[in-house]
Amino acid sequence: MSLPVIDQDYFVDFLVKLLNVTSPTGFADPAIEFVEKELSQYKQLQLSRTRKGALIAKWSPSTGSGRSAESDLPPVALTAHVDTLGAVVKEIKSNGRLKLSRIGGIQWPSVETEGVWVFTSKGEKIRGSVLIDTASGHVHGVDGSRTPRDDDHMEVRLDARTISEVETRALGINIGDCVAFDPRVEVTNGFIRSRFLDDKACVANIVAAIKSMTDEGLSPARTVYFHISNYEEVGHGAAAGIPSDVAELISVDMAVVGKGQESDEFNATLCIKDGGGPYHFGLNNKLRALAGKHNIPYKTDVYVFYGSDGEAFWRAGGDVALALIGPGIDASHNYERAHIDGLNATTNWIIAYLLEG
Ligand SMILES: [Zn+2]
Repeated sequence: MSLPVIDQDYFVDFLVKLLNVTSPTGFADPAIEFVEKELSQYKQLQLSRTRKGALIAKWSPSTGSGRSAESDLPPVALTAHVDTLGAVVKEIKSNGRLKLSRIGGIQWPSVETEGVWVFTSKGEKIRGSVLIDTASGHVHGVDGSRTPRDDDHMEVRLDARTISEVETRALGINIGDCVAFDPRVEVTNGFIRSRFLDDKACVANIVAAIKSMTDEGLSPARTVYFHISNYEEVGHGAAAGIPSDVAELISVDMAVVGKGQESDEFNATLCIKDGGGPYHFGLNNKLRALAGKHNIPYKTDVYVFYGSDGEAFWRAGGDVALALIGPGIDASHNYERAHIDGLNATTNWIIAYLLEG
């Protein structure tokens, strides 16, 4: 059987919109809500939220009459995360500017001069940008290039009239307020360039897979739970929220592209081992067989500085077979880039697993 066609325009449109929804870890609710709203149009899905705020979508196999039925096989789950790197206000400086505490591992040089939104606890947002504290070339000369790009020297300059701590506090800004970096999304020539393709690309893969199957009246071979995680970037997103009867879990998350890596932007990748150790041999082989059968282009790879949400579930005591697949993302946790070929390969792999897994 051949796989249903992926609606490219739908995929790209949904992904671009999701990338533009701010969702640093701890402040990811707007993205959870956005995905929830999108999935609510697929009436066969049962949507719910965990107490921690993750979104769960349950899809049961349908019988010939369109009624849903429980399959004899135990359910499976897929997880992908909408939370991203970001920051919170750590300190309001005497000049009115903000020092930040990073959420996850954003690299300072990659966001130098980037636009930000500061979200106050009262629900207002204030515009600004990230600069080194020796930014003016006419004031600091060559010192600007020598200044370390670190927590102490990077600051937010607000686009509001403040030159003192008192004036900044009067804007409604407080310690702990969320700071979101602009994603800067561009789609050119099959490439999607943006921050936070990790892991919004894979959330879009899952949503596009659901749409493709729905459009052709298909349903999964066994009950599946989609777990849209909101705390992955800090290491414990899927530690909770995967039902205990789930037999197999697939983390759908970016593949590492760069020097020494096998992954690239034009293929999907099956990760055999990462910083948390090896994945499940049997489930890996099942995914390899599906890819082979459906001509899905993929690589296998090993990631060094990487841990997945599936491993968070394993560490929390989850008793499942676990695998990790995803599209190659260049320059991860920096200014990222993906290609539609690698993204399609991942969507197709998800569809093949849902139909035949
Ligand atoms: Zn990720």
